Amino acid sequence: MLFGRHRKNPVHIADKQVTDWTYATCGYCSTGCAIELGKNASGEVVASRGVGGADVNRGKLCLKGMYGHELFNSPGRGETPLMRQHIGQDFKPASWNTALNHMAGEINRIQQDFGDDAFAIVSTGQLLTEEFYTLGKLARGLIGTNNYDGNTTLCMASAVSGYKRSFGSDGPPGCYEDFEHTDCLLAWGSNLPEQHPIIYWRLKEALEKRGFPLIVIDPRVTMLAQFADIHLPIRPGTDVVLQNAMMHVIFEEQLEDSDYIEANTTGLEALKEEVANYDPASAYKICGIDEDTIRHVARLYANAPAAMNIWTMGINQSTHGSDGVVGLNNLSLITGNIGKPGGTSLSITGQCNAMGTREWSSCSGLPGYRQLENDQHREEIGKFWNVDPEFFPKKRGLCQTDIFPAIETGQIKGLWLVATNPLTSMPNTPRIRKTLEKLEFLVVQDAYADMESNQYAHLFLPAAIWAEKEGTFTNTERRVNVVRQVTPPKAKSKSDLHIFNELATLLDPNKQVTFPDNAAGVFEEMRTLSEGRLMDLSGMDHDLIESSRGIQWPYTARQRDAGEMPLPGGKRLYTVATNFCHSDKRAKLIPLPFIDNNEKPDAQFPLWLNTGRLVEHFHTRTRTGKVGNNNKFSPIPFMEINPDAAAELGIRHQEYVRCLSRRGDAVVMAMLTQRVPRNMVFIPFHYFDCVNRLTLGLLDPHSRQPAFKQSAVRIEPIEDQASAARQSKALRTY
Ligand code: SF4
Repeated sequence: MLFGRHRKNPVHIADKQVTDWTYATCGYCSTGCAIELGKNASGEVVASRGVGGADVNRGKLCLKGMYGHELFNSPGRGETPLMRQHIGQDFKPASWNTALNHMAGEINRIQQDFGDDAFAIVSTGQLLTEEFYTLGKLARGLIGTNNYDGNTTLCMASAVSGYKRSFGSDGPPGCYEDFEHTDCLLAWGSNLPEQHPIIYWRLKEALEKRGFPLIVIDPRVTMLAQFADIHLPIRPGTDVVLQNAMMHVIFEEQLEDSDYIEANTTGLEALKEEVANYDPASAYKICGIDEDTIRHVARLYANAPAAMNIWTMGINQSTHGSDGVVGLNNLSLITGNIGKPGGTSLSITGQCNAMGTREWSSCSGLPGYRQLENDQHREEIGKFWNVDPEFFPKKRGLCQTDIFPAIETGQIKGLWLVATNPLTSMPNTPRIRKTLEKLEFLVVQDAYADMESNQYAHLFLPAAIWAEKEGTFTNTERRVNVVRQVTPPKAKSKSDLHIFNELATLLDPNKQVTFPDNAAGVFEEMRTLSEGRLMDLSGMDHDLIESSRGIQWPYTARQRDAGEMPLPGGKRLYTVATNFCHSDKRAKLIPLPFIDNNEKPDAQFPLWLNTGRLVEHFHTRTRTGKVGNNNKFSPIPFMEINPDAAAELGIRHQEYVRCLSRRGDAVVMAMLTQRVPRNMVFIPFHYFDCVNRLTLGLLDPHSRQPAFKQSAVRIEPIEDQASAARQSKALRTY
C-alpha cells in the first residue's frame, strides 16, 4: 500500500521515442543554454533537453528552450520565395533563381539611380555568427551601402557604446561565474527571472550558497525586485543621477580604490568635479531615492571586497543609455571592480547572438571589432577579402533608428530586412507603417511568412530556422557555442548563409571576392582574422567547441597548442593592470552631467508607460506565439496598473481599457497589481499593434538606441467590453 505523496498520480513524462539526439545552442536569448534536440525514427524533431555537462545551464532549460523542438513545424513558416509588384497585391510563388535575380537587379537599379547608400540593410541578433560575417562581407565588400545596421540598435547599442567609451572596445568583461565570487550585486533595469531565467538560476544558486546583498534598481517591482534585499524604485530615466550620487558618497567617504584608479584609469579629477554636484539630498529630488538609501547602498557596494553591476534594457533603452553604461563602468573602475572574480560590469545581452553580430557582422565597423575609421583596419580587411580598401566608407553610416527617417525623406529607396520585424519592434509603429509604404523595394528574409513587416514586402525570402543550419553563437559571457544541423530546412526555405552566397554570386560573377560555402569554412576565415585581437578565437573550431560545451573568448591558438584544457577560454577581460583598449591602455573615467530630456507625464498624459518582457514570449512572438505551451500563459496584450490608479479611473481587474499617447492608442486588458506604482503602467513589448503604437522612442545621442521605457500615456475605460475583447483578439495574429 502506498502512503503520502506516493498515493498521488506521479508526474508522467511522455516517451517521445527519440532515437537520435543532436547538440545545439538555444536560439532564443543570450544566456546561451546548450540544448539537445531529439528525433524519432521517422526523422521528426520531437523533444528538447538541456545538456548536463554544459557550464552555462548544467542540464536546465527555461520554458522557451523546453519547447524549442516545436518550432520546426510551427505554423506560418515560409516555404517558397514570394514576389509581387505592388503592396496590396497577392504574393505569387517564385523560384529561388527568379527571386534572387530580381533582388540583385533591384539593388543595382536603386544604387545606379540614387547612389550606393540608397539601398539599406537591417539585420538581426539571431543569425549564426558565420552568417553575420558573410552578410558583412556582402554588404561592405560587394553591395557597398553604408546604411547597414542590426536590430541590436534597439537592444544592446548603449552597452556597446558605453563599453567603447570607458574601455576602448566592446566586449563584456565578466562572466556568470562571477556570481559565485561576488560580495554585492547591483542589478540595474534587469529582470533576470523573466528575461534570462537560466542566468537567474545561476545567480540564485550562488545566493543560496553564500548570501550576499542583492540590490535591484528598477521603477517596477519586478520578479527580481521581489527577491531582492533592497529595491530602489527609481524614477524612470534617472539612473545617471543615482550613479553620480553614489560616486559622490564614495569619494566623500574615501571608499574608492585609489591604487586601482592610479594604475588603470584617466580622468579622475574631472569625474570628481562632476559628481561633487550630486549630493544625495539633491539627487533624491530627481531620481526619487532618498539620501539614507543612496548612502547605504553606496557603502555596501564600495566596501564589498568584490562587487558587480549587471544591467539590461532598463539602462540601455533610455535617452541616457550610453551614459548609464559609462556610469556603471565608472562605479566599477573607482572601486577596482573590473577583471577580478566577482568584480565586474556585465551587460546581460538580449538575443541569442547579439554578441555575434557585435563581433563579426561589420554593421558598426569591420570584423573582429575593427573600425571603419581606422586606416589600418580597412587595409587589413580589404587585403583579406580582396576588396579595394577605398571601397569601404571611412565612418559608420546610419543606424537602424536613423534608417527609417531616411526612408521618409526619400534618401533611402530600398530596404532588406533580415530576421527582424520593425512593424512590431520599433517605437511609434504608426509612423513605421507609413515609412514602409514609401519604399520602392522591400525584401523580407525571414523564417516566418506571416511576420507583420511582410505586409509591406515586394519580395519574401524564406529562411531556415536556427537548428536547420550549422554554425556558432556567442552568449552574454563571450562563450562561443555551436549549433549543429538537426534537420534540413523546411520545404524550399534556405539557410541565410546560402542566400547570402547566392546573392554574392549574382553581384560578383567573376568571383573577385570569395565566399566559403559552409559554416566551417567561414569559421576558418574568422579564426584567422581574430588572431591577436581582443576577441581572439584562433584556438577554436566547431568540434572543439562542441566537445567543450562552449568556449569563452579569448581562446588563442597558442593556448590550444599549449594544451590549456579542459576549461579553455578567457573568463574575464582586463585582468592584467593597464590592458584596456584605449591607446594609452587605460580605462577612461568620464563625467556625466544629467540632462532631463525625456517625455514625462503631464496633465494630459499623466502616467509613465514602462515596457518590457515576459518569460514565456520572445521578442515579437513570431516564434513563441505559435507554441501552445508558451502562448497559453499570455495569449493577449495586457497592462499592469496600480489598484489605486485603477479605482480612480473606475477600472476593474481584467476589463479592457484604451491606453493613449501622443502617437496612438492600444486596447489592452487591465491587470491590477502593486508591481507598478500609482503613476505608471506597464505593457509587455511582444504584441503586434500594441505598446509600440504608443512609445515615442527618443534616441540616445551616442548609441541611437530608443528610449522605449519613458513615454507618457493616459487610460480611458471602455464601455463596450464585448467589442473591445473582439478588437484585442483580432490583433492577436497568432
Ligand atoms: Fe533558451 Fe534563454 Fe531559456 Fe536558456 S534561458 S533555454 S538560452 S531562452
